[in-house]
Amino acid sequence: MKIHEYQGKEILKRYGVPVPRGKVAFSVDEAMAVATELGGPVWVVKAQIHAGGRGKGGGVKLARSLDEVRAHASSILGMQLVTHQTGPSGQKVRRLLIEEGADIKKELYVGMVVDRVTQKVALMASSEGGMDIEEVAAHTPEKIHKVFIAPDTGLTDADADAVAARIGVPAGSIAAARAVFQGLYRAFWENDALLAEINPLILTGDGRVIALDAKLNFDDNALFRHPDIVALRDLDEEDPAEIEASRFELSYISLDGNIGCLVNGAGLAMATMDTIKLFGGEPANFLDVGGGATTEKVTEAFKIMLKHPGLRAILVNIFGGIMKCDTIAEGVVAASRAVSLSVPLVVRMKGTNEELGRKILAESGLPIISANNMSEAGERVVAAAR
Ligand code: ADP
Ligand code: MG
Repeated sequence: MKIHEYQGKEILKRYGVPVPRGKVAFSVDEAMAVATELGGPVWVVKAQIHAGGRGKGGGVKLARSLDEVRAHASSILGMQLVTHQTGPSGQKVRRLLIEEGADIKKELYVGMVVDRVTQKVALMASSEGGMDIEEVAAHTPEKIHKVFIAPDTGLTDADADAVAARIGVPAGSIAAARAVFQGLYRAFWENDALLAEINPLILTGDGRVIALDAKLNFDDNALFRHPDIVALRDLDEEDPAEIEASRFELSYISLDGNIGCLVNGAGLAMATMDTIKLFGGEPANFLDVGGGATTEKVTEAFKIMLKHPGLRAILVNIFGGIMKCDTIAEGVVAASRAVSLSVPLVVRMKGTNEELGRKILAESGLPIISANNMSEAGERVVAAAR
């Protein structure tokens, strides 16, 4: 689960990470009230969306007077903000963060992720913070310093200080950087984050260390023990189809193609998408209906797929292990009737009761194209979509 920058900053503040004074605003009037309360002389008006790259996309603006705050707030609020992380259609801005302008001497980078190889939290830090960290990672990876944090000790003073020194934090600011790194780690650890990133982390003219941006992603599987984090969820930032799918415990992700995929098992779902691409098609979604798919679940899955504006064909690819093929066939037939299916449907089923499943499909009278193996299924659905 993702949250907004202003929410991330609230959390970091609780862990002793310094952030600029600021507040969220949902309207231009609210923005003006916050700006007035903060006082000048410099404010920053920041679009709050669940995507980075806002600065380059025109969603972060400096203001040197209240009039400028009003002008920026008016133009950013409601805009369709396009960044390299939003996709070409962008994301509508419904919230702003109004905060005090900071005196930036140097922009640094610090981030944390769970590293699967070492099974530890990896801290990554760089002297090259700001808006182009992806470029740094791609072209000068030696400028990114890493520490793998042992869960029994947490981030030690020695490791924190060494990283701070390596990214060029001057001696007088090392203790402040240490407090930021350790606070970030505790925030990450105690809230079951998957990613925590401060970019930029800045050094100010007077030697302070401040988080100017905050990005926190949380592990969905641990949300049950963090009701305070769940309360921060902003459904406006999520894909409506994905929200609908999560209500039925379907793992669904919208994509840009035109072939809907209904599959059981995440591995088979990935392989199905690969097969579609191999034959020159583009999947419209990833969908894993899980092991215990009922007729109702399959029907809901069909409904969600059919909402995709570009949908031209559907591929159902099922391996009947615990789930029997006849159950799925009945679900597919019932779902096709319930939604008056209007696009070609290719079905490939293997495993328990596959003969029975095929018979149910054949006798349904529905124009279902059946396929015997993965490549046949891929080839036929790509042809059908054309
Ligand atoms: P994004 O990563 O989405 O582009 P940031 O919050 O990192 O958004 O802001 C982009 C840039 O704007 C920062 O790298 C920094 O240079 C500048 N900036 C952001 N907040 C402030 C602030 N409070 N004071 C001064 N400059 C800021
Ligand atoms: Mg940033």
